[in-house]
Amino acid sequence: MATIRELIIIGGGPIGLTCGLMAKRAGIDYLILEKGALTNSLFNYPLFMTFFSTAERLEIGGIPFTCTTPKPGRKEALEYYRKVVESENLNIQLYNQVESISKNKDGLFELKTKKQTYLAQYVVVSTGFYDIPNLMNIPGESLPKVHHYYREPHGYAFQKIAVIGAQNSAIDVALETYRKGAEVTLIVRQNEIGERVKYWVKPDIENRIKEGNIHAFFNSKLIEIKEKTIVIQTPDGIQEIENDVVMAMTGYLPDNTLLQQAGVQFSEDGKLIPFYHSDTMETNIKNLFLAGVICGGLETHKWFIENSRHHAELIVRYILEHSEKVQ
Ligand SMILES: Cc1cc2nc3c(=O)[nH]c(=O)nc-3n(C[C@H](O)[C@H](O)[C@H](O)COP(=O)(O)OP(=O)(O)OC[C@H]3O[C@@H](n4cnc5c(N)ncnc54)[C@H](O)[C@@H]3O)c2cc1C
Repeated sequence: MATIRELIIIGGGPIGLTCGLMAKRAGIDYLILEKGALTNSLFNYPLFMTFFSTAERLEIGGIPFTCTTPKPGRKEALEYYRKVVESENLNIQLYNQVESISKNKDGLFELKTKKQTYLAQYVVVSTGFYDIPNLMNIPGESLPKVHHYYREPHGYAFQKIAVIGAQNSAIDVALETYRKGAEVTLIVRQNEIGERVKYWVKPDIENRIKEGNIHAFFNSKLIEIKEKTIVIQTPDGIQEIENDVVMAMTGYLPDNTLLQQAGVQFSEDGKLIPFYHSDTMETNIKNLFLAGVICGGLETHKWFIENSRHHAELIVRYILEHSEKVQ
């Protein structure tokens, strides 16, 4: 018979860890299940990315995040969250993906992973949104030269690369690869660089475009990808240009499989926002909660670390008010 836990948290990202930390401090018997490395999404972020938040705004549980630069990078953040897990001895299992969730006849949640089945009175889903790329669904998108995830610039040195998108990820890729000798073409659907682009980066990209060092197509759309070229629909008509690599920084989508399995309702406005009460984070399924960026559905820019850390406090408060110790 599987051990019955009071609380299981699915996802070991910054917000899942915050839920674990708050549960531990409240004396709740909890377990965090993470499918990959610790803070796996951050682990898969671009190597040289810089957070737009200052360190203290990425802190969890009031544990200081010391950083010598105004804004931390990926390396510092990974180190910080690892030290939190180590120093607080958080109960987390890595490389253990939750593959299904259901409720048994006793009203307990049954979670299955490849390793075992878990039973829990309460469940938090904090699985983020970084695992499914937002595809362009155009011919040639499955060619090996097309990438939806970016790691570092060196591999693109002296290549003709097209960067698709107008927000932070696209602009970081365009500037980093341009500085490593790539011939960069930026393709943007809107008529300008995204308004959410980091304020200290915006002048840089706008000046590189003005001086012609980065070529930009605005009000344009990539419509086809071929082995050696790409086809762009621009205000001046269809253009076909030489191309070696396509960096499709078109965003990511939450994986709602577990929520759908559990019976969580979603908004019908096309934004696929999962239902939850904002004062408890409980969904329409009793004792099933959401935390972190998964709460935004397709509005993936709505929630981030800074503004979703409090989800953990709301959930733990609810559990403390409602919990009957499981026998
Ligand atoms: C380039 C970039 C820069 C950013 N800069 C900032 C910033 O400056 N400030 C800020 O506040 N936010 C920033 N963000 C957003 C922030 O990183 C995310 O909002 C944050 O990662 C959200 O935390 P989370 O715990 O909700 O989700 P995630 O960090 O995505 O964690 C979810 C975890 O769940 C795991 N998981 C998924 N499915 C399963 C499963 N079935 N079983 C077990 N585990 C599973 C994943 O592996 C992952 O580790 C940035 C994002 C990017 C991409």
